[in-house]
This record gives sequence, C-alpha cells and structure tokens, in this order.
Amino acid sequence: MKIHDNTEAELLLNVDVIRAEFPILARRVHGDRPLVYLDNAATSQTPQAVIDVLDDYFHRYNANIHRGLHCLADEATAAFEGSRETVRGFLNAADKREIVFTRGTTEAINLVAQSYGRAFLQPGDEILVSMMEHHSNIVPWQLLAAERGLSIKTIPVDTRGVLDLAAYAALFTPRTKLVAVTHVSNALGTVNPVDELVRVAHAHGARILVDGAQAAPHQAIDVQALGVDFYAFSSHKVYGPTGVGALYGRLELLEAMPPWQGGGEMIKLVRLDGETTFAEPPHKFEAGTPAIAEVIAFGAALRWFTRFPVDLVDEWERRLLLAATEGVKRIEGARVIGEAPGKAGVLSFVIDGVHAQDIGLLIDQFGVAIRTGHHCAQPLLHSFGLDATCRASFAIYNTLGEVETFLDALERVVKMVR
Ligand code: PLP
Repeated sequence: MKIHDNTEAELLLNVDVIRAEFPILARRVHGDRPLVYLDNAATSQTPQAVIDVLDDYFHRYNANIHRGLHCLADEATAAFEGSRETVRGFLNAADKREIVFTRGTTEAINLVAQSYGRAFLQPGDEILVSMMEHHSNIVPWQLLAAERGLSIKTIPVDTRGVLDLAAYAALFTPRTKLVAVTHVSNALGTVNPVDELVRVAHAHGARILVDGAQAAPHQAIDVQALGVDFYAFSSHKVYGPTGVGALYGRLELLEAMPPWQGGGEMIKLVRLDGETTFAEPPHKFEAGTPAIAEVIAFGAALRWFTRFPVDLVDEWERRLLLAATEGVKRIEGARVIGEAPGKAGVLSFVIDGVHAQDIGLLIDQFGVAIRTGHHCAQPLLHSFGLDATCRASFAIYNTLGEVETFLDALERVVKMVR
C-alpha cells in the first residue's frame, strides 16, 4: 500500500534526524526485520540524550537526596529538584510545590484517592468516572468507595467514542464531590474537552482529577488554563524512563490533604508520643528514597521533548494516524473502533472473524509491534461489545514508511488467517 509523501510537518520536524536519536529504533527483530514500533501508547522509546542522563548519574553523582551534606548529595538533590521545576514548567503549574513525584499515573491517582478521598469524602458521596477510563482511574475509586461507602457513577460514551456531555451534566447531585476523567483515551484516542468538564464540575462544587497519561505526549498542557484540581501523568509515555511520573495538585488542596504513606523524607519531627509532624507539600507525599535517577531523567526527557513545537508534533502524528486509519479501512472486514473528531495518537480496530491476539502475534513476525487486548479499559471495550482490539499508536519518530509496512503486514496477516 503506497502512501508515502513527505508532509511539511515531517520536514520541519526532521523526523529522520529525530529517529537517529533513538538507538532502539535501529534494532532488527525476527531475523533481519526492521523494528516498526507502534506501541507508543503503552510505552514510548527513549532518546540517547535521556539514556546519557541516566548513565551520567550513576557514573558521577549517585547519592541519596535532601539529607546529605556532601557534594554528591548536593548535586543529586539539585538535579532532582531541577526536574520538579521542569515538570512545573511542562504543566504550567504556578508553583513547584504543586508537583509531587510518584511512580507514575497509577500511583498519582491512588495518592489522591487514599489521601484526598479518605479525608474529604463522606459515606453517601458520589464520584463520577467516564466509561472510557483506564483501569487505573477506576479501581482506586472502587477501593475507596468500598471502604468509605461512596457510590460511583459513569459518564457514558457514544458509538463514536465521544463523552456524552449532556448525560455528564445530568449526573451531578449535591452529593457529587469528585470527577475523575481522562484527557485522552488510551484505547480510542478520543480527546476530551477538559475545560468544559472542569467548568461543569466546579459549577457543582466538585473537584476534578484529570488523567493526562495519553495527553502529555501529544499536546501542550496548561493546568492553570484548564483549571483542574489534580493532573497525573507518566514519564515513560513522554520519552522518559519507567517507574516515575508526577501528580499536579493545587497547593491549597495538597496543603489540606493528609500524608498517605509514612516514612523518611515526609516528616518534620518524629516523636513516639504520637506528636509526629509532617513536611510541607510536595515532600509530605514523597515518603522514602524516590527513583532519583529516573526522576532526573524524566526531567531530561521533558526538556528533550519540548524542543519540538508541540503543534508540529501533533500535526505529524495526526498525519500518521490518518494514513493508518485510511489503510486499515481498506482491508476487508476491518472496523475502526472509536472515530471521535480530532482524536489523537491511537488507532483501535478489529477485523471480523479474526481474533485480535492472532493479529498481534502474527504481525510481530513482520517486525511490527502493536498492542492487542483490552488496553486496561475493559468497561469501555465491553460497551462496544468487544473483549479486545488491535491498537497501533504513534509517536514523534514514526514515519509514513512504517505505516506502509504496518499496513502491508496487516494485509498479509489477514490473508494468512482467513
Ligand atoms: N491512564 C492512561 C490513560 C494510560 O494510558 C495509562 C497507561 O497505559 C495509565 C493511566 C497508567 O499509567 P502507568 O502505568 O504509567 O501508571
């Protein structure tokens, strides 16, 4: 399937030069097949500049942070806190005390559920989540609901994969205290109108947490302009290492919230008479030695990524998405799942009569890495009457040539199994 044409965005971004910064993209798999990596919504690859930062940390200044008086500890602390400032800038938060480092989006959401939720939600209160949430923005609320006697209501999604905003507004009651919703769906690519969701939540006196795991790699985030109360995202989807992410929380909320984990780093004074006092945010929420090297590399990844104009990145990824979508639709029996206008980064599809798992396994033999399964969004898939889809997801370094390889391989796989 020949689709290659160089668009302006590709030329302006200089995608070939970007690709050369990612050593893993030169890998060959299954004999001598070039790797075509289209599983970026699960984890994006890491550029050499970020790998170098990890390497440099262990070569030159590996030390525990905040407590040491020696020069290695000083350097590690400065780099760690420098990353906090980078994340603040990336989200346009007003104050770096509003940035809490976590293990990722999942832990950030659990932090809010366990700290804010336990302290401020009362039995009978209601939480709204959408039908398109990742399990990590459902299960923490279910655990909290079971413990605190809360109820969870679901914002429906239409057949295109678009949130039903009228139904959303109608779900609010005086007991609605929190909305937890994703910015971009990992399973469908739908981009939700966060400003509108925030406006309605706040008009009803509810707080709103936004899961930004899939938005952060594709668009500029401005937590002040959006007006969100909490925003969570992960490093490994924005070209950084795994096991680290960040929670943004409005300062007055973080100040009012109790700690959720106890240990070193998060205290002011520990006394055995029970009069232990806690550090100020964000340290109050960062018990124990954090993933120091990874946090430093997370900052480096965001600095690397923000070198590129995000509108250009978005335009390029949409071009890839469009080419892939048009190609998949030409395959007999193929059905694209989720066709929200303006969707970002993700193409979900099924092929009638062929199990997604078989497609994933066979297409891998052609060197093409896609994701198959429920994408940790079982309620959403069930609402489409499905257990699994195939998902191709795009990043800054993908090319139209790779989309062609993907489509050719897909055609061959479908012929093999039919
Ligand atoms: N939310 C969304 C929308 C995601 O796509 C993911 C990861 O796939 C997560 C949350 C969980 O992220 P992590 O596993 O990095 O905590």
